[in-house]
Order: sequence, then structure tokens, then C-alpha cells
Amino acid sequence: VDEKKARPVQIVQANKDDHTFELNESALEKILLQDHVKDLNVVVVSVAGAFRKGKSFLLDFMLRYMRNSDKDSWMGDNDDPLTGFTWRGGCERETTGIQVWSEVFVVDKPDGSKVAVLLVDTQGAFDSQSTIKDSATVFALSTMTSSIQVILKLFTEYGRLALEEVSKKPFQSLMFLIRDWCFPYEYCYGLKGGNEFLDKRLQVKHNQHEELQNVRNHIQHCFSNINCFLLPHPGLKVATNPKFDGRLRDINEDFKTELARLVPLLLAPNQLVEKEIGGNKVTCRDLLEYFKSYIKIYQG
Ligand code: GDP
Ligand code: MG
Repeated sequence: VDEKKARPVQIVQANKDDHTFELNESALEKILLQDHVKDLNVVVVSVAGAFRKGKSFLLDFMLRYMRNSDKDSWMGDNDDPLTGFTWRGGCERETTGIQVWSEVFVVDKPDGSKVAVLLVDTQGAFDSQSTIKDSATVFALSTMTSSIQVILKLFTEYGRLALEEVSKKPFQSLMFLIRDWCFPYEYCYGLKGGNEFLDKRLQVKHNQHEELQNVRNHIQHCFSNINCFLLPHPGLKVATNPKFDGRLRDINEDFKTELARLVPLLLAPNQLVEKEIGGNKVTCRDLLEYFKSYIKIYQG
């Protein structure tokens, strides 16, 4: 795929009216069956959350990291607008579903193996009971098909929504990303503070509501690797200025510092976790088949 023509492609779409799910098979095929990636083991990095949680914003920085070979200056120049997943112009689409980046990145891991990296945007909607159910399905699909899942949401809500839908297969890596963290003196920004915060929240106490206890146990059962990262507020321009175009100059320093730590934690070659299903690594070609069979589960 020509880098300039690379774009987000909607591969799973929830139909609001009858709550069915559609897989855009031919589009996914075009992406996963490209000659140079189809037989490589795949790393599927999914960013999941509700509309306007900053998924596209984060994914655009992930794209910069994947494209920039100089890992000291990957964030780019101060006045470069962000491009990629970010959708600008007229009315924004609020489709509940899954988008993948059409360009699959090939990365050499330190152990000498080559992997294909697929970036995925998983969007839910939480405005009514019925869209909450659709979102749960989409999150479950995303969990089943990804090896590194970043959740822009508090885990208790996520667990209640998504995990009851999935079987008890072990998944790989889960990162809770908490944005606009405003208690850095209690838990410091970044991975260390995030994991301390998460440990505290994952502790199952006997006086807790039973449902909450189950969610916690279930999450810890399902993922081999669970982390949490606390991001500071990016600044008022990012949050409220309609003319903000993603340039670094307009983003708070401490946010950029933490972002510069977060993205390599997820995407550095030695951090890339290959997708496994039933204990076996999965190629791009296999992933296509899994998508087809998983979507059938939800087509009822
Ligand atoms: P998406 O719908 O989840 O893809 O969200 P977008 O990436 O399009 O971002 C939605 C809005 O939130 C944009 O105006 C972003 O500039 C802003 N935004 C992105 N990241 C953050 C963040 O960490 N905190 C706050 N407060 N706003 C953010
Ligand atoms: Mg978006």
C-alpha cells in the first residue's frame, strides 16, 4: 500500500437499527492478504473506547512512531499537523465498529523474527441501552482479535460491558489508559503510578459487591499482562479549541513527556506481542479467518 494513500478502513460495522454486525470481508482481505505480510505473525494493536475519548489522537501518534525510524525524534516537528485516523471536516461519523489502518507495518524484532503490525481503532457508543449492548459486542470482538489492547476507559465499566461476552481464553496484553489524570501527587503519571493505582483497584475485598469481584477476577484470568498508564491533561487547546490540528506546539509539555514514554511501551520492537489463539501464533492470513468466524458468533 502506498503510504500516502494509507487510510483507516471500516471493517466491522454495527447496524443501529437491527443490532446486527457486518464484516467488510473484501476490505479486510485486501489488507491482510498483501503478499509481503500475509504469512507473517501478526501483532494486533487495538485502541478501544467511546466516541471522543482520544482514540484517533493516540493512534495518529502511534502511526508516527511506526513510520519514523529515528526513535529519538519520532514525535515529529512542533508545527506538523497530526494526520491519519483523525477525521476532519463537516459532520463526524459516529459509527460503532472497528477500523483498521490499511498500511500493515513490518517490524524486525530483536530475536530476528519479522512481524506484521496492524493498528486498530475500536469505537463504542454509550448513549442508550441498545448501543451499550452493541458496544459490548464490538469490544469483545476487538479483545478476541487483538494481542495488545489499549482501553481508554475505567476497567470496571469495561469489564462489565465486554468480558461477560467472551469465553475464558487467555488474551495477551491489556493496557488501561486513563487520561486527564489529576491526582499526580497520589499516583504519579505514567506506568508506575498507573500500575499502583490499578493494583489498588484490582484488590478484591470481601465487602465489595459480588459483581465487581467477579469482574476483577475475570480480567486477571483472561489476560497474561495487565498494565495501567496515567496520562496528564493535554492542555486546553487540545481539549477545547476547534482549530487544534494536533501540532505538538499546542500540547502541554508534561503530556508530551508521558506520551513519549507510552507509545514505545506499546510499540517498541521488543514490546510487540504476537497474537496467539489457543496458544498458537497467528498470521495475517489466519487472522482473516478468525474475523470471519468470530463475526458469525454475533450474527446470531
Ligand atoms: P475519538 O473519537 O476517540 O477518536 O477521539 P479523538 O481522537 O477524535 O479526540 C476527540 C477530542 O478529544 C479531540 O478534540 C482531541 O483533541 C481531544 N483529546 C485527545 N486526547 C485527549 C486527552 O487525553 N484529554 C482531553 N481532555 N482531550 C483529548
Ligand atoms: Mg476517532
